[in-house]
Amino acid sequence: MIKSHPSEAILYQYASGDLSAAMTLVVGTHVDMCSVCQQTVCEIEHDLCSKHLDTVVQTLNTPSHGYSGLSKTDTDKMLEKIFSSEAKPAVQPDELICLEGRRFVLPRTLAHNRARIGDWTNLVGKLWRAPIDVGDRGHTNLIYMEPGTQVPEHTHKGQEATLVVDGVFNDEKDVYYNGDFILLDADRTHTPQTSAQDCLTLATLDAPLYFTSGISRLLNPFSSLFFRASA
Ligand SMILES: [Zn+2]
Repeated sequence: MIKSHPSEAILYQYASGDLSAAMTLVVGTHVDMCSVCQQTVCEIEHDLCSKHLDTVVQTLNTPSHGYSGLSKTDTDKMLEKIFSSEAKPAVQPDELICLEGRRFVLPRTLAHNRARIGDWTNLVGKLWRAPIDVGDRGHTNLIYMEPGTQVPEHTHKGQEATLVVDGVFNDEKDVYYNGDFILLDADRTHTPQTSAQDCLTLATLDAPLYFTSGISRLLNPFSSLFFRASA
């Protein structure tokens, strides 16, 4: 069961179209995987549409617009039609991604962005990265950690949003499973790692990582490799 969700404020921004393209991708992929957030987003969208239609009807029911004759009952019926007709397409075979003999089914939002996913690059050891070009200044990647992988301890100059697409990883604070959404800022250092199981994550950063401990500090000149949009 998913235990780590985007805040309601983030879901509101998502439903309103106010998030960056990168955050829309990460939050949208979480929503694909999370029935709780699907319900919340549906309620927010219903509320936003209802307010918008009320405003439209108020505008139309004025002398300058010749009174449309539309009532609150009419708009409620429209909303009911809109929100009862959504059909989600089945996953197609090409909405898979393969690496190191593993095949992952991409959630709907990621699958829609399949053409934006670049080639896999081996970063260090058992750590892999495939950049996703979402057309903004965010730096978004699929990150794959083989079993027994550790990302050196690091902090962020900006925010890091991570979603577990498949598998499990842990840091000093918690263990994260399929669908868990983690938002970290510059106040947190952490060391993501896998143990017996591998993990595919979707991550977006708005500034380079900063490695903080031991010999890994030597990686700082190369930290942009961990998030650069193209190799
Ligand atoms: Zn959720």
